[in-house]
Amino acid sequence: LNTPEKVNVVWHPHKVQRSRGCVVWFTGLSGCGKSTIASEVDHLLHGRDVGCTVLDGDNVRHGLNASPEILSQSYDDNFSQRFGLGFGPVDRQENIRRIGCVSELFCAAGIITLAAFVSPYRDDRDQVRKLVTQSGGKTDFVEVYVNAPLDVCEARDPKGLYKKARAGEIKNFTGIGSPYEPPLAPELELLSHTATPDVLAVQVVNYLEQIGKLSSGSPTATTEREDR
Ligand code: ADP
Repeated sequence: LNTPEKVNVVWHPHKVQRSRGCVVWFTGLSGCGKSTIASEVDHLLHGRDVGCTVLDGDNVRHGLNASPEILSQSYDDNFSQRFGLGFGPVDRQENIRRIGCVSELFCAAGIITLAAFVSPYRDDRDQVRKLVTQSGGKTDFVEVYVNAPLDVCEARDPKGLYKKARAGEIKNFTGIGSPYEPPLAPELELLSHTATPDVLAVQVVNYLEQIGKLSSGSPTATTEREDR
């Protein structure tokens, strides 16, 4: 859109260029093990002194992507309705768009960003891939499909959400009232009902090693731009 705002917002190039991290994007049904495996990977990478962080669905929905109800504790109705996010299709799209932007910022700061979100829509995940890879390189976005059958996830039900969804207390719950679109060509697929989280986390670390993401260690400012 050719709005005045767009015309007046100009990208500012910075003097210092950092070596990039990457975004490891865990997607899958609720309870498939995204957070558990991401946390194991985080633990393994910290042990190797690699700069990394976990972005977790539930945590982000308390802050950056809080619901209208949470926002209304501190802001008026108009503000809360405008910026708060729920679980309808457009709100889910905006949820992932914001998280994608934050992931890209971490990645540009040299951090391996472990993002654990249901992120049910293929197109939303592809948009994040596009954002991250066009700023960096093809290997900067690693999509990890944490695949476990719905009945396994439902039996685990670590937060009691499936139970609530079956009782009709949660509408739009992915896998029950709302669809999940599995990745067509993920960099990695983890069958989380066939191995323990620590074994699956090693598979992720091995993959990062293979594509050369662990060779330079912790994030550091490397070169100054030559075009000062
Ligand atoms: P998600 O982040 O995908 O919603 P969580 O990681 O919060 O899922 O919960 C997964 C639950 O399943 C945890 O209670 C975890 O201990 C359990 N679990 C059992 N086996 C596995 C496995 N192989 N991989 C991941 N989680 C597992």
